[in-house]
Amino acid sequence: MSIKAAKKFNLLREKMYDPMLEKSPGCGLQYPNSYWSDIAYNNNDEKNECDGQLDQDTEVDVAIVGAGYTGLSCALHLAREHGIKAHVFEANQTAWGCSGRNAGFILKSSGRKTYTTMQKQWGETVMRGIYDEMCAGVNAVNSLIAEGIDCDQQAAGYIKVAHKPSMFKTLQAQAKLQQQMFGYDVQVLTRQELQQGFMADENAYGAIRYQDGFGLNPLKLAWGYQKLARQAGAKVHTSTPIDFVKQKQSKDVLLSSPQAMIKAKKVVIATNGYTPKGFHSLVTNRTLPVLSQIIVTQPLSAEQIGACNFLTSNVVMDTRALKYYYRKLPDNRLLFGGRGAITGKNAEDPYYANRLLSVLKTSFPALGHLAIDYAWSGWICMALDDFPHIYQNDENNVFYGMGYCGSGVSFSVQAGKRIAEKVAGKTVPNLPLYQKPLPKFPFAPLRRVGQWGYFHYGKIKDSYF
Ligand SMILES: Cc1cc2nc3c(=O)[nH]c(=O)nc-3n(C[C@H](O)[C@H](O)[C@H](O)COP(=O)(O)OP(=O)(O)OC[C@H]3O[C@@H](n4cnc5c(N)ncnc54)[C@H](O)[C@@H]3O)c2cc1C
Repeated sequence: MSIKAAKKFNLLREKMYDPMLEKSPGCGLQYPNSYWSDIAYNNNDEKNECDGQLDQDTEVDVAIVGAGYTGLSCALHLAREHGIKAHVFEANQTAWGCSGRNAGFILKSSGRKTYTTMQKQWGETVMRGIYDEMCAGVNAVNSLIAEGIDCDQQAAGYIKVAHKPSMFKTLQAQAKLQQQMFGYDVQVLTRQELQQGFMADENAYGAIRYQDGFGLNPLKLAWGYQKLARQAGAKVHTSTPIDFVKQKQSKDVLLSSPQAMIKAKKVVIATNGYTPKGFHSLVTNRTLPVLSQIIVTQPLSAEQIGACNFLTSNVVMDTRALKYYYRKLPDNRLLFGGRGAITGKNAEDPYYANRLLSVLKTSFPALGHLAIDYAWSGWICMALDDFPHIYQNDENNVFYGMGYCGSGVSFSVQAGKRIAEKVAGKTVPNLPLYQKPLPKFPFAPLRRVGQWGYFHYGKIKDSYF
């Protein structure tokens, strides 16, 4: 490959890919040095088997760009429910983006918009319709796992902790509303109940607990989806970064990759927070990629677990504007996450991992000597209206699903299923999720300045209000 081509596909990269600045996420790059990839490779149950790099020109009915949960679910549902054998093209490895890097929280939600806001904005029927889609996402994950995906699923329970006393009242009000609106089983835990029954988090002032969230190994989950999609007839080509080739008046869409050209009747953009700069006009300036950072500590000893009364392996998130989240992993390590750097250039600065470790230690002072074994980060995909969108162009030959705002492990599966229905020409529910495009960011070149401002606002809000 020429230097020019290597530059085009970012093969000469030294820093982390930055989707706001770069035109390709790379080609054949390895997974980050994450806990998930270590565990997944050392465990023989789920394997990463795919169809390798595309090396000859091809014509396909449906090309899917991006082999994360959205792309793999879309391929699986196209094959199983509509008899369409799609080809998935991934620049690097299967689930190299968010799907292989996330915290593995399965939650009945996506985006950041609350149900109360949805009710005010769209009314009760639409709000309930959206809730049903979120539930369908979790059900879909559960039923695919039940087909035999080994992904180290942990005991059910999602604990939302109040990071200050006033937020405990807010959480209680939320629990009441969700019980009334959806009959949702939400448990309220005082600080003492939380400390005695789950974990002694010094920064928690009470909590609510949902019975149906849970944690798993996200990379093994993605490999499991890949296996099911391929068994159903889909192809998954890795090391195959895609570019759209501009054409005049053609119904087919022409795509280029390093070794081959692809002619597709329909294309699905499933690149979420990893969508390269200027990739396609349908999504340009409609998302903001934001780094989320994760650390995984050394395994806790029995004494350390006892000192923190760390009994639970439920997934935990707090109420801050700039949220922290954590969980105890099957081998007694702690995974702890929060916001990362603003730019890809600074993503690997140890400052961000160390900052998370020091916050973790304020929650659990008995862990003063605990060290980090793994640290990595990934681009979540923010939408201006805090809400994912599944949409298409007027010609009905380019589709997309993205904007999960850091909460897409379960809903992306439902999104993939709905995109498949759209591609197959079926009707999807009449909900803003599926009928409205992602809104454009005003002053799009200044998105990072806005993000920087939000981080400062969040810091002040979380500390003083
Ligand atoms: C640190 C972190 C923690 C998170 N924790 C949680 C959590 O606990 N629970 C939760 O619900 N959500 C979480 N999320 C969000 C969740 O992971 C995502 O919403 C979900 O994985 C999105 O999946 P996707 O398939 O849409 O996108 P991705 O998994 O990001 O896949 C997009 C893929 O497209 C590929 N790509 C991009 N451009 C091209 C191109 N030109 N050609 C070919 N391929 C291309 C990329 O390489 C990438 O693999 C987290 C995210 C991060 C970063």
